[in-house]
Amino acid sequence: MQTTRRQFLGLAGATIGAGALAFALPQATRAAGGTLLFGIGIHIEPFGATPSALAGSVTPPSSSTASYFNSALYQRHADDVRLLATIAERHGGRLTIQAQTPFTTVALSRGDTIFAELEGRGHEIALHFHEDAHLGRNPETLPVSTWAAVMAEEIGFIRALGVRSIRYWSGWQSLSRGCWRRRRSPGSTTRATIRTLAPSLLIRR
Ligand SMILES: [Zn+2]
Repeated sequence: MQTTRRQFLGLAGATIGAGALAFALPQATRAAGGTLLFGIGIHIEPFGATPSALAGSVTPPSSSTASYFNSALYQRHADDVRLLATIAERHGGRLTIQAQTPFTTVALSRGDTIFAELEGRGHEIALHFHEDAHLGRNPETLPVSTWAAVMAEEIGFIRALGVRSIRYWSGWQSLSRGCWRRRRSPGSTTRATIRTLAPSLLIRR
């Protein structure tokens, strides 16, 4: 299957958001006399995902026909991630690459060490979690313990790829504000973004 422009943008949408934000803040930064630092986050979307067995008998969401079980699509996106990392490095930058199944499980089955390699080069590896992809439709009805178990399972697949530190996650694509406030991700306590397209941004004085 040929990768479409839409699929690529889905993979790298956060990078585009980072570019847009860079134009919005330079005046404030100059006024503060500080250095503007911005992170570039990449979402790896759950193409081909099915809900976790830990969620029990749930109804899968309608999904894209694209799937990371398609070798060509997997390899194209793995190549894209490596290319973006190389481009960022040329400019002194680093990425926060947020991954989930089935990209992670396909990487395991192929013996692809992409995330260990990139972490070793200074990039951050993180979790991107689509609740409907991994918990089925109406995930709000499931107990917090099930959410925690499935999120821990997702983090476990990333760790199995040789990643040492996972401190960041993003996701919660379709939940109400009241619902996501009640959720916490196990093992990822330092930062989180909700429906993130904007990069994390720091101004250092
Ligand atoms: Zn996403």
